[in-house]
Amino acid sequence: MMTQYLALKDEAEDCLLFYRMGDFFELFFGDAQKASAVLNIALTTRGEHDGAPVPMCGVPVHSAEGYLARLIRAGCRVAIAEQVETPEEAKKRGGSKALVKRDIVRFVTAGTLTEEALLEPRSANILAAICTIRGQCGVAACDISTGQMMLEECDPQSLDAALARIGANEVVAPEEWESAPDEAILRPRSDFSSDGGEERLRRLHDVATLDGFGEFSKPMLAAAGGLIAYLDHVGRGTLPLLLPPVAHSGTAALAMDAATRSSLEILQSQQGQRKGSLLAAIDRCVTGAGARQLAEDLAAPLCDQQAISRRLGLVAYFHDDALRRGDVRDLLRGLPDIGRALGRVAAGRGSPRDLGQLRDGLRDAQRLYDQLASLPDKPEMLEALLPALTGHGALTDLFARALVASPPTERNQGGYIAEGFDEALDELRSVSGNARRAIAALEARYREETGVSSLKIKHNGVLGYFIEVPSRHADALMAADSGFTHRQTMASAVRFNSLHLHEEASRIAEAGGRALAAEEAHFEYLVEQAALSGRAIADSAAALARIDVAAGQAERAAQGDWCQPDIVEDRSLAISGGRHPVVEDALSSRGERFVANDCTLTQTDRLWLIGGPNMGGKSTFLRQNALIVLLAQAGGYVPATSAKIGLVDRLFSRVGASDNLARGRSTFMVEMVETAAILLQASERSFVILDEVGRGTSTYDGLALAWAVVEAVHEQIGCRCLFATHYHELSRLAESCDSLSLHHVRAREWKGDLVLLHELAEGAADRSYGLAVARLAGVPKAVVARAGQVLGKLEKGRAETGGLAAGLGELPLFAAAAEAQEEQCDTLRERLQSVDVDSLSPREALDLLYELKSEAQ
Ligand code: ADP
Ligand code: MG
Repeated sequence: MMTQYLALKDEAEDCLLFYRMGDFFELFFGDAQKASAVLNIALTTRGEHDGAPVPMCGVPVHSAEGYLARLIRAGCRVAIAEQVETPEEAKKRGGSKALVKRDIVRFVTAGTLTEEALLEPRSANILAAICTIRGQCGVAACDISTGQMMLEECDPQSLDAALARIGANEVVAPEEWESAPDEAILRPRSDFSSDGGEERLRRLHDVATLDGFGEFSKPMLAAAGGLIAYLDHVGRGTLPLLLPPVAHSGTAALAMDAATRSSLEILQSQQGQRKGSLLAAIDRCVTGAGARQLAEDLAAPLCDQQAISRRLGLVAYFHDDALRRGDVRDLLRGLPDIGRALGRVAAGRGSPRDLGQLRDGLRDAQRLYDQLASLPDKPEMLEALLPALTGHGALTDLFARALVASPPTERNQGGYIAEGFDEALDELRSVSGNARRAIAALEARYREETGVSSLKIKHNGVLGYFIEVPSRHADALMAADSGFTHRQTMASAVRFNSLHLHEEASRIAEAGGRALAAEEAHFEYLVEQAALSGRAIADSAAALARIDVAAGQAERAAQGDWCQPDIVEDRSLAISGGRHPVVEDALSSRGERFVANDCTLTQTDRLWLIGGPNMGGKSTFLRQNALIVLLAQAGGYVPATSAKIGLVDRLFSRVGASDNLARGRSTFMVEMVETAAILLQASERSFVILDEVGRGTSTYDGLALAWAVVEAVHEQIGCRCLFATHYHELSRLAESCDSLSLHHVRAREWKGDLVLLHELAEGAADRSYGLAVARLAGVPKAVVARAGQVLGKLEKGRAETGGLAAGLGELPLFAAAAEAQEEQCDTLRERLQSVDVDSLSPREALDLLYELKSEAQ
């Protein structure tokens, strides 16, 4: 056995090997150690290898999916080695000692899942392949749970951005490629050839040329080759559903790099969770497929005015009619995930339940069609989507006749083909039904004949049918002429057989076996029929998802009083009453109100420098405007009272280093690398938000850099930009930069307390309120007071000499001043300690309190 195991393990490479033994998948050696740790299951040993005990752990086959899910989530890949012959076959082949043959039937990896239990319903599951051909990168990505496939070419500097947009769960790359990402699975270089890729795609879709699908460059085809070869490898020769590839054009989507995506928290918060992200704040989809489509829309907003308008038209259609929206959402709510059901069926992993889902989903699609098709004044996009919802009548009729109402996920018990679909099958079933009734009748007859009223006919997996009586009644049945033959003696009962029972039981067994075979044949036929309509079903799934997205966006807009953005071609940005959807949600859950703010950028006033106190709302304001642009170009409504948005080609968001120190990798270097990218890539159509850039270094350096960056954005790039900064000195830039204006978030000191108004106003911030914020944050009073002294000196020094740090020399050190204060505290403390509280009268206590207070002052 070990020899067989080790050979399979060799083939499994760095995947954990699930080795099937009876009702368990067993893992050995290092695999067992790793899996037992991840799954928190017992680690045992079995036998010895090279003189040492072999570590082992195992999971039951019937609950293997749950364990697989956890292993995959923990970043493992798993090879499944199944028994590919029965023990009887093994004996026939190699004698009584022969080992059952096992093969790896499949690799389970993060990017190649189709099982409902292993997938997140609301997230896509993406596998990507990347490579370079003559200096250009090719990217191929697919979601095999639905069959969608995308090809793309980009230059090497943009590869990270492309991967960030795609959000792959697993990446494959050619081995010996020095730019391959660390986490990539390395595959043979020969898999990534453009000729090979083209050939594989042609064969896959059975076409002579790919021209009908679009134009694909050599890097795209090479990546496609690598992708399909890997799928072939993990599926052991069975390819999953793959729809014709779609070429992604770099200019069709609003470009955002990885840093921008993460700082805007589009699909995930900085903590890596869906909660707290833009997606979570706006997702009102009622189907998993809709939620996946929405995530895709947000990851790649559009740059084409007409395409955006088409999406907006559909959202408006549902927004303006709450009743219609409600009807559509009600219908969609119960819709099965037909895209993924099709994915499983086409990959040969479908179940009767999946076929049932296709039947129900396609029937609902038709219902939706009937609901919408006859309505007048439909928007363009709906007209375009409707045909995909209809035309499945033949298939749904067939499935409706063939399948029971709720088919099971397992086939081995049968019972999923409906009565009336196949006369022969019904016949077989009635044979076993009749035989079952005959057995029931037999039981009554035997009770009467033997006079044993507790006689029972039972069934189990080992004996089949048998007659059972309590031991004390067994004698009568033991008699040679009783017609009963003894089978088994138990502690309190004895079991028998009879000729009649045997006959009926064989009839059941035979009819049952034949019925199962008949159902299996029907199942194969139904799967074939589904696969033949595969593309049309995928189109229906896509149309349903698109409608769900639009109705969900409309729902969100109606709930939050959002508006339809006006997308224009010029380079303006006019948002009034803008809000940050995530911050607003967080505030309102605490019963607080979000203060809406306007943002109006024009050609002559395109760079806003925003100052004001910490916690005043600068970062929130910057991000809300970027998010509004993103939402609008993704074709949705926006959290504002009105929004006119000149198309943006690239969106950049940068945050000064110290803001994300928590992420651990943020250094001033990262900040500068990311800033450099803006200066190199932004165009005059771009929208840039810079949040305290320059903060990651000393005051002088930081100020100088921030100054230079603002100048470059203003003079060379000329794009729309919001720049939040705590450097007062930057306001001097307004004197030299015509299209730059000064703004600040308002705050007021009231009775010594700082009130943050979160309101944007024109003009430079008058002061920084740093000390007031420190007090608000609970910095000890002594420290704040001391800081006040330092500030006074600094400002005086600056006023006298014009230098930022002039005047510092006259200041005593902070430590000396603090010491003096500490001494005073000590005397107070001593006095308090000397007081015997129990012996004080109320009067004395009050006096003491007055004394202490005057001393403290
Ligand atoms: P800054 O960048 O100026 O330090 P932030 O944008 O980080 O300030 O905002 C700090 C906090 O103030 C936010 O977490 C939020 O709770 C609150 N806040 C920000 N903007 C608003 C607003 N427009 N209305 C209400 N509260 C706001
Ligand atoms: Mg901030």
